[in-house]
Amino acid sequence: MEAGEKMLKTFLQDRSVKNHTSKFIYHLIHQSGPLPKAEVMKLSKLPPTTLTRLLEEMVTKGLINEAGFGRSSGGRPPVMYKATANAAYIVGIDISRRQTKVVLVDMAFRVVAQKVFGLTIEQQPAAAISAMKNVIQELMQECNIHADHLLGIGIGAVGPLNREEGVILTSRSQSTDSWNRIEIIRELQKDFPLDIIVENGANTAALAEYKRNTISNENLLYCISGIGLRCGIITNGHLMQNRTGNISSQGHMVIDPKGKKCSCGKRGCWVAYTSLVSLLDETRRIKEMKTDYGYSDFLNSLKEQDPAAEQAVQESVLYFGIGLSNMINMFHPKSVIMNGPIFDAYPEYFDEVVRSTKEHLTLFDDSEVHFSRGGLKEEAVSVGAAQLLFDSYFVQPA
Ligand SMILES: [Zn+2]
Repeated sequence: MEAGEKMLKTFLQDRSVKNHTSKFIYHLIHQSGPLPKAEVMKLSKLPPTTLTRLLEEMVTKGLINEAGFGRSSGGRPPVMYKATANAAYIVGIDISRRQTKVVLVDMAFRVVAQKVFGLTIEQQPAAAISAMKNVIQELMQECNIHADHLLGIGIGAVGPLNREEGVILTSRSQSTDSWNRIEIIRELQKDFPLDIIVENGANTAALAEYKRNTISNENLLYCISGIGLRCGIITNGHLMQNRTGNISSQGHMVIDPKGKKCSCGKRGCWVAYTSLVSLLDETRRIKEMKTDYGYSDFLNSLKEQDPAAEQAVQESVLYFGIGLSNMINMFHPKSVIMNGPIFDAYPEYFDEVVRSTKEHLTLFDDSEVHFSRGGLKEEAVSVGAAQLLFDSYFVQPA
């Protein structure tokens, strides 16, 4: 597929009016394929001769391929068309507060290679960016992918962000203060002169689950609970992109004005009860331990069902439910997905948070809400970031 791979990149980057119809057909087949010609014709309303010519062109270029035959409705079974999975690749990067994950996905959004590396308190942004660049090179070599076949890079980061300028504005919420005004797109483009976009990771995770389309999720809330707490929101099939890209602010919704002191200075924020920091502190207090008990020790304790760690987590269930029910009362999602290290380390947490959330839903039929851990779990942010980049090729400039 050597030639075909390069052709998809050129094809997607071609924003000329002449290419609109072909891109529309490609997008249709990519989203809903494998599809027979009759179905594409019905959906596109194109005359048969035009459609036949465009399909042939796209098959010749390797953008789509004939993927077997569909069910016959009497005559010959129809040829099915499908987007070619290895026609190009996209890098997806998940930059969270504790680690960075880099994945390489094909056009079917399957992860073909991936690598995770930790971010430490001491690590400066320059070192982290240089590590990202090395990992991208490594993954491409591992899969034998030439730079010409890489469409671009999608980044899911912790906000606030300046999406247009490609800058991560975070300071306080990142694990180290040096993470401030990081020109992430410009830095990566020095080595990878490609299309690169940056979006909040909770939003890209929501998008990734929405695109999987396995359940009715036109209205979806994707909640990531870790060092912070943030929810990506899909409403009526559209990603809600708030102005600042900072959705960690949701975690600072006050649920008890006389409550626990939060890192932001206020009292009783949602995240003050649910974050890894707070649960770690609480476990240390119960155990009467000092600072040499860190995040990984806490998560290991939870896995081993240590009573102190379990108690700390149990105490957070009520508050998690109050905060989450507030979000649900506000946005009325059909699907609510929860993810994060505590859910991984302590599977009971999910059921208990769901129970507590349902107790606090008001004027809302809880049977209409489907709670889950999602299908993509720790790959949701990075795969969604790659998807967002792919989608950008189909947005018509205003
Ligand atoms: Zn706060």
